[in-house]
Amino acid sequence: MEPPKLTHVVLVSSPGLGHLIPVIELAKRFVLLHNFKVTVIAVTSKTSPAEAQILNSLLTPSLCHLIDIPSPDINALVAQNDAVVTRLCVVMSEAKLAIRSILSEITPLPSAVIVDLFSTETIPIAREVEGQYVDQTEPIKIPGCKPVRPENVFEPMQDRNDRQYTEYLKIGKGILQSDGVLVNTWEELQREELEALREGGSLSEALNMKIPVYAVGPLVREPELETNSSTESLVTWLDQQPSQSVVYVSFGSGGTISSEQMKELAWGLELSEQRFLWVVRPPIEGIADAAFFTTGSSGIDEVAKYLPDGFVSRTREVGLLVPDWAQQVTILSHRSIGGFLSHCGWGSTLESITNGVPLIAWPLYAEQRMNAALLAEELGVAVRPRVLPTKKVVHREEIAEMVRKVIEGVESVKGNRLRERAKEVQQSSMKALSKGGSSLVSLSQVANKISG
Ligand code: UDP
Repeated sequence: MEPPKLTHVVLVSSPGLGHLIPVIELAKRFVLLHNFKVTVIAVTSKTSPAEAQILNSLLTPSLCHLIDIPSPDINALVAQNDAVVTRLCVVMSEAKLAIRSILSEITPLPSAVIVDLFSTETIPIAREVEGQYVDQTEPIKIPGCKPVRPENVFEPMQDRNDRQYTEYLKIGKGILQSDGVLVNTWEELQREELEALREGGSLSEALNMKIPVYAVGPLVREPELETNSSTESLVTWLDQQPSQSVVYVSFGSGGTISSEQMKELAWGLELSEQRFLWVVRPPIEGIADAAFFTTGSSGIDEVAKYLPDGFVSRTREVGLLVPDWAQQVTILSHRSIGGFLSHCGWGSTLESITNGVPLIAWPLYAEQRMNAALLAEELGVAVRPRVLPTKKVVHREEIAEMVRKVIEGVESVKGNRLRERAKEVQQSSMKALSKGGSSLVSLSQVANKISG
């Protein structure tokens, strides 16, 4: 049996016996009374024999791991008559780089870093080496929300070294500067989360957020009244298909998949023996949001090169391929659409459920995994592959099974439960946007506030 893992604590001390002694005593107590593993990082002045003796008391018997950083030379940075406190602060500021490099390599990951009064500049550094969500195995508890499984937190937020992580934190802090938050959802869809965000709610308390939150959505487009010729031919094709028989496949404005996945997807659609309309773009390896800032202009011949041999001719009767872009709301609101294989961008998510269309949730980037979890696990309007599509290839058999599930339902269950749920959600969205509905009332409150 493996011995139980010891809790690891790091203590940081600034120079001076008055600082070192209590830090060392604290270290000893953690070891002797709590059986912790303790590392002491001491910035030492190396001038007093008493200091050496005290440091030694940690090592004999060996109670802690001691990392001794000699005081940096600060003579050029201070004046001769500068006070001790000034000198101490400058020393600790200069020692920051050395402390950072020690903390970044220290193992096992400490559960806490405790710093003395003059070492507070170390606190942000300690944050940098805090555990990552990627290390987390338990669901993450966000007040007022259903716990989020770590794999549903999108990758950049799992890694504090990823620049997006910092950017998202900035966004979060930015929101707290506002006078109110408008959310593209509606009261009846996400009541618990909205309550948690409102004053007195568990999330607002945790964030110290005291700004009003208005659910004014869904903010989705109406189907285009003016259609271009490619939309017209697409609508003509949809008109010829039976009601709720077609699965619409699209990865939003920027989603791309690998060439291997693209072939598997094609095989899966073919195997499902269902009708499909696929907005298809050339594959790109390893970058799920590769097309986000580009407007593609590939023709069908270009994308067909990446599809299995003979796929286009074999599926001509049941499938329609549209290169790069199509008018999505027009498609989703057509009676022939029975399901949507989607990357779960929030716009696509809302457009699907407000049209009563169940989904195959295929998250790629940004917050899409959380949206997928909401759709599949909370709202019951989606199925989801067993693997994360950005990590592993989803195989053709599973794709075919999911397509059949959204279009035809599950054999053992009467009716199509996913579709029934999607229709219920659609009704609820229509109510929110009707006269006196929750979202229109919220919007009026915002408008009144603005016009004062
Ligand atoms: N869209 C579209 N045609 C396409 C792809 C996307 O009209 O071929 C629209 C879609 O209707 C939605 C938006 O682009 O309103 C994409 O937003 P979403 O939040 O779904 O995902 P993102 O593209 O931002 O990841």
